[in-house]
Amino acid sequence: MFRQPLHDRGVISRYRTYLPVSEATPVVSLNEGSTPLIHCAKLSAKVGRGCEVYLKYEGLNPTGSFKDRGMTMAISKAAEAGKRAVICASTGNTSAAAAAYATRAGMDCVVLLPAGKISAGKLAQAYVYGAKVVAIEGNFDDALDLVRKIGEREEFAVVNSINPHRIEGQKTAAFEIVEELGDAPDIHILPVGNAGNITAYWKGYQEYAALGKSRRQPRMAGFQAAGSAPIFYNQVVEHPETVATAIRIGNPASWEQARAAIRESGGAIDIVSDAEIMEAQAWLAGQEGIFVEPGSAASVAGLLKCLDCGREPCASCPVRGVAEGSTIVLTVTGHGLKDIEAPLKYRSFAPRQSANQVEAVLQALGY
Ligand SMILES: *Cc1c(COP(=O)(O)O)cnc(C)c1O
Repeated sequence: MFRQPLHDRGVISRYRTYLPVSEATPVVSLNEGSTPLIHCAKLSAKVGRGCEVYLKYEGLNPTGSFKDRGMTMAISKAAEAGKRAVICASTGNTSAAAAAYATRAGMDCVVLLPAGKISAGKLAQAYVYGAKVVAIEGNFDDALDLVRKIGEREEFAVVNSINPHRIEGQKTAAFEIVEELGDAPDIHILPVGNAGNITAYWKGYQEYAALGKSRRQPRMAGFQAAGSAPIFYNQVVEHPETVATAIRIGNPASWEQARAAIRESGGAIDIVSDAEIMEAQAWLAGQEGIFVEPGSAASVAGLLKCLDCGREPCASCPVRGVAEGSTIVLTVTGHGLKDIEAPLKYRSFAPRQSANQVEAVLQALGY
């Protein structure tokens, strides 16, 4: 009999009573969740007025993104239902998580990817975890359409965020934040792609408020990439384009739920450009020591954009009228190492050249 370590429980064992699982559910876990909530002094100073900014660093999940929280639920429920295979469309991180958790459950994992639009790191994950990968001629939204059709077959469970168990697992991040802060934040900012995560956080915050575990609920502020912003423009984007491939989605599955979360919470949806995203990624790594993938940097880019915004009053601004002493949480959804092509393409990082000599190295460094 192996011993279950005390300190690395996954989200199902930690939040079992708030999730649709029973004794009959086999728990398929990689000890996901319990990610750090990191206080950012420099970002807080930028906001000013006594506000405190924290990052929920979801890149520290087992496969490097928040997708693991939902996947432990989706795969556990698929195992309970006796499924032998799972299928998903992916911009990269869903497939990495699906492949890892399916392998752990002894299931086949089929992944449909938009050809040529996935970072090499994420693609490598799907392969190494043993998924069957199919690149389709089309974008993510086309891949998801195919998954819906193939998923009607008996042997498959669909593990995209149209699978309601994914949202259930992902809401646990909101629980962790409330526990850590002692209450919900005033504002929660996150990137929006398929809009499952903003839906999940809002559900989590509402449930904890209803249980009396928090006194307030945050304003939910979502940021889309400017070239891929169907919710912001209220219109399907046929050919979404952005460097932030994780949020390169033109027709989000949880569109209505995201709208509801924004409306009910008094929040906002806005856009950030690719340049703003890449600058935010570099700023966060260079100033706070936190390296996140471009899709994740959209939340930081959004906050920075709002701080610099000269428009007065700006109706869409999620930090409008931010009260003195507010608590702001930003979800950074995936690890920077997921996609190293983007920053390397965006700027050149050439090493300084030096001879093999102490003096020469010091000189090259300018000391
Ligand atoms: C999936 C993903 C997103 C987008 O989340 P949605 O739930 O699709 O809105 C953002 N960032 C990263 C790193 C992701 O993997």
